[in-house]
Amino acid sequence: MAGAAKLITRFAPSPTGPLHLGHAYSALTAWDSALAVGGAFLLRIEDNDTQRCRPAYEQAVYDDLAWLGLRWPSPVMRLSDRKTIYDQAIAALLARGLAYPCSCTRRDIQTALSAPQEGVSAPHLYPGTCRHRTGQTPTVEDAIRLNMAAALEQLSSQPLQWRETGPDHAGLYTLAPDILARNHGDIILMRRDIRTAAYHLSVVIDDAAQNITHVIRGQDLIDATAIHRLLQALLDLPTPIYHHHRLIRDAQGKRLAKRDDAKAISTYRAAGMTPQQMRHHLGL
Ligand code: GLU
Repeated sequence: MAGAAKLITRFAPSPTGPLHLGHAYSALTAWDSALAVGGAFLLRIEDNDTQRCRPAYEQAVYDDLAWLGLRWPSPVMRLSDRKTIYDQAIAALLARGLAYPCSCTRRDIQTALSAPQEGVSAPHLYPGTCRHRTGQTPTVEDAIRLNMAAALEQLSSQPLQWRETGPDHAGLYTLAPDILARNHGDIILMRRDIRTAAYHLSVVIDDAAQNITHVIRGQDLIDATAIHRLLQALLDLPTPIYHHHRLIRDAQGKRLAKRDDAKAISTYRAAGMTPQQMRHHLGL
């Protein structure tokens, strides 16, 4: 069909626990958006945290989504199959002086943060202990961090924008570099323990690889979008349209977490709820 590009969206759960009502809302919102315009709905299993992901949780993702009435093309993209691709991106960022190896443990970072510091604007940011290693080759024990100052300098002449269509935030956003430096700093691109790309890096690479045109996800990830836009610019990747939907909260108003078993989709299934009733329950 000629004309406007087809909408391609995705649901990208991490199989670290049972899917809950918040996941159901997110997956159904993406699915409905694709269906409404004859677009495509893809599934991606974000199993990069090998310490917390479990095959049983991955199987439960397939079962819960199929129960909700969702269908997706096979094979499903799984991050654990894509380490070589992420490693290439990390090597390129290292070679360009935009990332550096970091050997700091959590304790090192805490000690540095509790000492008086100069030049660190937010108390939770990485204090830059290993930043002087920019240009060095990492050892197998190192994490990799983004050199935020070098990244922002590289892109200083380029306005970084993205379009948001979420209910509370619709509009064209222009990235303010000082926000990135102030709120995020030298973020981790690869953790020391799991030795593959951290979420912020894999998500931009994978959204591009899957030709995602619309990222539909919860409002809890809205701050991350600035980092994603920056990484897209550094890696010369396309920028999808973003839609951050409302969050499903518990009776106390807290965002649901994977440990809230009481809100797990499987709990409602076991109690005899139908997919239609779940849609209704979620206000869809
Ligand atoms: N794996 C992420 C999560 O479960 C997905 C984030 C995204 O949709 O970009 O929260």
